[in-house]
Amino acid sequence: MKNRKRMAAALLLCASLLLGACGSGASVPKGESASVSSDTLYVRKIENLPEDFILGMDVSSVLAEERSGVKYVDFDGTEKDLFEILAANGINMIRVRVWNDPYDSAGRGYGGGNNDVDAAVEIGRRATANGMKLLVDFHYSDFWADPGKQFAPKAWAGMKIEEKTEAAYAFTKESLEKLRDAGVDVGMVQLGNETNGALAGEKTWFNIQYIMGAGAKAVREIYPEALVAVHFANPENAESYASYASKLAYYNLDYDVFATSYYPYWHGTLENLASVLSSVAEQYGKKVMVMETSYAFTPEDSDFSGNTISDGSAVVKNYPYTVQGQANSVVDVIETVNSIGGIGVVYWEGAWITVGTSSWEENHEKWERDGSGWASSYAAAYDPDDAGQYYGGSAVDNQAFFDAQGRALESLKLFSLVRTGNELAPAVDALEDARVRFDLSAEIVLPETVNAILTNGSREPVNVEWQIDEAKIAEMKSAAGVYEIAGEADGRAVRCFVTTAELNFLLNGGFEDGTTAPWVIIDRGGADELGIEKNPLNSLDGECNLHFWGAKSGSIDFDAEQTAADLAPGTYQFSVSIQGGDAGEAEVYAYVKLDGEVVATAPLTITRYNSWSTAKIGDIAFTDGRTLTVGVHVKCAGEGSGAWGMIDEACLNVQRG
Ligand code: CA
Repeated sequence: MKNRKRMAAALLLCASLLLGACGSGASVPKGESASVSSDTLYVRKIENLPEDFILGMDVSSVLAEERSGVKYVDFDGTEKDLFEILAANGINMIRVRVWNDPYDSAGRGYGGGNNDVDAAVEIGRRATANGMKLLVDFHYSDFWADPGKQFAPKAWAGMKIEEKTEAAYAFTKESLEKLRDAGVDVGMVQLGNETNGALAGEKTWFNIQYIMGAGAKAVREIYPEALVAVHFANPENAESYASYASKLAYYNLDYDVFATSYYPYWHGTLENLASVLSSVAEQYGKKVMVMETSYAFTPEDSDFSGNTISDGSAVVKNYPYTVQGQANSVVDVIETVNSIGGIGVVYWEGAWITVGTSSWEENHEKWERDGSGWASSYAAAYDPDDAGQYYGGSAVDNQAFFDAQGRALESLKLFSLVRTGNELAPAVDALEDARVRFDLSAEIVLPETVNAILTNGSREPVNVEWQIDEAKIAEMKSAAGVYEIAGEADGRAVRCFVTTAELNFLLNGGFEDGTTAPWVIIDRGGADELGIEKNPLNSLDGECNLHFWGAKSGSIDFDAEQTAADLAPGTYQFSVSIQGGDAGEAEVYAYVKLDGEVVATAPLTITRYNSWSTAKIGDIAFTDGRTLTVGVHVKCAGEGSGAWGMIDEACLNVQRG
């Protein structure tokens, strides 16, 4: 089957040769994409973007996709070689993952493109033919390596670290020799993929650095001009990144580029990304870049195999799931990396689209046969717990730069247009869902406007009509919960999520007033920062939170408390949430005081960014004439660059039942 397809492709090639229009990329002026223009895509010009700034695309799945019959189609409807389309739109580097031996004992591919060295050579040839460099991503595994798994290749099983180091050197050298012999223009080689403290089955830096060092040595010998990169994930954990960089420095690893994945829906803010990368760049004198990023152009799945993000599965408040939203997300990443002197941004698997639109069964047959899904069932022996259970198709078909029919999306043009700008008059791109919250005893009034998100990313209020009646309002007031109301604005559908809750007897419990009043802050340690932060991404709900940070050890030592006014006798419950990091040894808890004496506490924990800890204290008996105070106690020794965190959503409610 595979061979027949290859023959058909060869025949096509000959036919176009006869017509004088052949040669993949022959018609594309190398390194030029001046002809890219768009009537609809807004792209901000990124100032001072160096000519050689890497705008890369990982297309590791492309050969398997083509085996499954996927075709790529240019904006004008012409079917073209994927690499030609990418080069013409400003992509200057192609990334490819390499697995040592992604096949079972019967020679059946594990999937995910079945990306062995031969696949990398083929992809590299086509990239080179179209004037793009190749970025080789050695996983040093037989299948996916990421923070969750770093299995050693089958052939390295049982090896001691000395033998494994030798094997890593030999494998890297042989692979790169094959690429060199094929004339592939390799621009960068990475030693492991998302190696957060593990690589090829090794879990100590002492051993990891031997394998990385062996890889680096081979790169320097075979491709002395290429950059050597290391690659990690989870930049939201600044302390982990500082630790990886310091370990590599301690072991004196020979590398040039410290790279990170940055998926906006998982990996924290752009400000944090800039700060994490620039501290490594400054402290260790390394080049930095984003090795993987992506964003959805639609919430819809098109291949019957679930996606990593879809409507409701991720909270990303900055960008809508539209073609323009996808472009804006990537432009912001490029701008951020460039602003700190980073060398590039690579988009992950921008061409991994559906292999069919009829049924799971039909697609499944192709995924098994061609390796065009993320995993085939044949991967079960190597990765029984994940691939063995959940094998299937593409989890990023809604994050590609091609639609389900293979036609290029307008957003692909961003890679060229960031250099020139395409600052069209902003138009409405999407509407932002409204979110409101009411106490059960309050009158429910829905907002008169919702935010339109414009193509340039800005917001503008537009009038809205909600489909709501008295019966629905009565239902929402009858029980605490979240209710979805449909509406229409600017000719488009929009939703309002109404949360009804027990009356909160605290004032400014979510810090949304933008000030700390009427909270009383008792700052014993002398924090560097202790006040309101306005940032929805860092807040549990709404826009604001009570933020703290103290660089000096022990400087985070404070209470934030509030005495409830006008309480009726009854039984109450208090809850509050916290997130943060670098706490070191810490004593953090919620408390309740009656007449100034602590009568109950509940522990809170500070672990990492975006991991909220909630404390709840119930059975608080309040009678007339007493004073009820609730609060949070935070005391941290601090580590790294100092303890930090956010407190949000403090509630004091009547306890029922
Ligand atoms: Ca999918």
